[in-house]
Order: sequence, then structure tokens, then C-alpha cells
Amino acid sequence: MIEWHIQSRSHACQSCGQEFRDHASYHTLLFDERQEYHRQDICLQCWETQYRDARDRKGFISHWQGVYEAPPASPPDPIQKDTAETLLRKLMERNDPVYLPATFILAVMLERKRLLRVKEQLRQGARRIFIYEQPRTGDLFSIPDPDLQLDQLENVQRQVGDLLEHGLRAEGEAISPAPDGPVVTGGPPAMATEVNS
Ligand SMILES: [Zn+2]
Repeated sequence: MIEWHIQSRSHACQSCGQEFRDHASYHTLLFDERQEYHRQDICLQCWETQYRDARDRKGFISHWQGVYEAPPASPPDPIQKDTAETLLRKLMERNDPVYLPATFILAVMLERKRLLRVKEQLRQGARRIFIYEQPRTGDLFSIPDPDLQLDQLENVQRQVGDLLEHGLRAEGEAISPAPDGPVVTGGPPAMATEVNS
């Protein structure tokens, strides 16, 4: 099973239901529930009274403390060109394994730009799974490591560049998955460091 999804930060405590105020601290807990990573955002008071022992509970994976930021009043312009982050969200919603390498590379690029942070690295069998957080919205992205070989990198980077330039094609349209054969290149492949947004 491929475990990659987005879990948004909740706007209220998932224990007592109290809404988070802007700039309020909160706790995030991750639990493994039948191979699904389940996120719980908890207010400080519920943490103190009910969740201090969370680390000892069944399925506990991770815990951290964050600061809630109220979302902006108006949503961003929907017709703006794809940025690396909006593309990452679209690819994850598409949930097509053909885009897993591109999704992973995008997350690495965003992390280097400090637009995403690695909160946790997990193992599911032989597979590594990275839990990234978007620090502003608190959204969590869980993305499996596709174990890319060096000779695949250049093709995947080309695919990412193409997606950033032209956007994600509608479902059902022809797509160009990264071929996994070796490519002839003039030099050693390098990880992408630029986000063209
Ligand atoms: Zn609470």
C-alpha cells in the first residue's frame, strides 16, 4: 500500500472542540492506525489533562508542538501559475504512482527552500516515508521515498520542470512518465536546487 496523503491542520482541538486562536500553541500527535497515519491536533489544556501519556499509547508515532496561524481571509488567486507547492498538492490529490518520483523531488526542492520541514521519517517495511510539514498552514504531507537511482534523477527533474512550466494535465490525457532506463548525460546528475515559482 502506498501511503502518501495530505492531512490538514485542524482549526479546533480534536479532543474538546475548542477553536484554536491565532498564534495559540497546540500539540500534534501522530498515531499509526491500521497502516494509516492519523493526525490529532490538541489544545494545551487537553494535552496537560489527557494526552501527556500519549507516547505510551498504542500506535504512537510522533509528537510535536506547533503554533496555530489563522488562515488568510481570502483564498489565493486560483488562476495563478502553479508554484512548486500547488503542484505538489495537485500531484498528491491525483494519487497516481507514476507521479510519485516527481512528488518526492518537489518535496525535496521545497524543503531546501525551507518551504517544507521534515517532521518525521518513518519506515513501512523496506520503504522510508517522510512526513513533511508546511510551516505556515501546518498541513502534513506524507510521501514515500521512491528510492530513485542516480540515473533516473535527470528524467524526473525534467518531468518536474515540465510540470512546473505547463501544469498537470487533466486526468486521462497522455502523460509522460519518467522512463527508468539510464540516460546519456554530459555530466553527473545533480539534485534540483531551484524552485521555478
Ligand atoms: Zn482541547
